[in-house]
Amino acid sequence: MNRRSFLKACVHAGSLGALARRIRSDDGTFDLRLWVTEAAAQYGVAARAKEYVELAFGTVRDDLSVTLGGTVSVEREHGYRVMRSGEWPGLLAEGAAGGSDIDPVDDVNVLLTDGPMDTAPTGVGTAHVAAVGGARYLAEMPRVADTTPVVPYTEPARVTQVLLHECGHAIGLGHDDGGVYARGNAAVATPMISSYAWSEGYDPADGACGTVVDVDAERRLLSFMFSDCASETVAAYDGELGVQDPFERHTDR
Ligand SMILES: [Zn+2]
Repeated sequence: MNRRSFLKACVHAGSLGALARRIRSDDGTFDLRLWVTEAAAQYGVAARAKEYVELAFGTVRDDLSVTLGGTVSVEREHGYRVMRSGEWPGLLAEGAAGGSDIDPVDDVNVLLTDGPMDTAPTGVGTAHVAAVGGARYLAEMPRVADTTPVVPYTEPARVTQVLLHECGHAIGLGHDDGGVYARGNAAVATPMISSYAWSEGYDPADGACGTVVDVDAERRLLSFMFSDCASETVAAYDGELGVQDPFERHTDR
């Protein structure tokens, strides 16, 4: 067994925690690195995705460092499958071991794919590692400087929220860190709850941060800023994560 298949086997065996420990270092900054797949790269979305991640996390962390890792060749152009198969964690593990030029950071390593966003699950985030789909939708988003942190519900805005959502999972945030708040006669969903708030079968008693406000579809807004609860967790994050079962709890639509 060569090193690559060994590392992939480790990931398949559930050693994401070992990967997380391996790439962990206490360097005093909150490091988030974003890669794009070859298919995602054709939309030129890396810089745009970086802007929104910087908006969301940079509002809470003044030690934030967001960097672009470059373009990655993957077999699975899908935000969930590239994780569930072990492919993306495996590529990070290989890079951490010096076997490639993929250089993981200690906090969040997120891969943006051109995977579909209409069929769940679309992405996943677990300890320090995440992947999402929807690069073509992110390409439709305006520059951060040309928009507001709260926008009407559109598919590009929802996809942008999912990117933030999976990055949140990567540092231990859960759906109950999200919330929906009222603004005038509209309802604003924050990234960790996102459109789950208005999904069939969602129970507000599940413990959302803040009041879940239900309104007609045309009065639903999406925020690129974390809720107060999520912000507290992001601010307090010091590299340690609680125990979590990534694929059971954080499989996202
Ligand atoms: Zn989620």
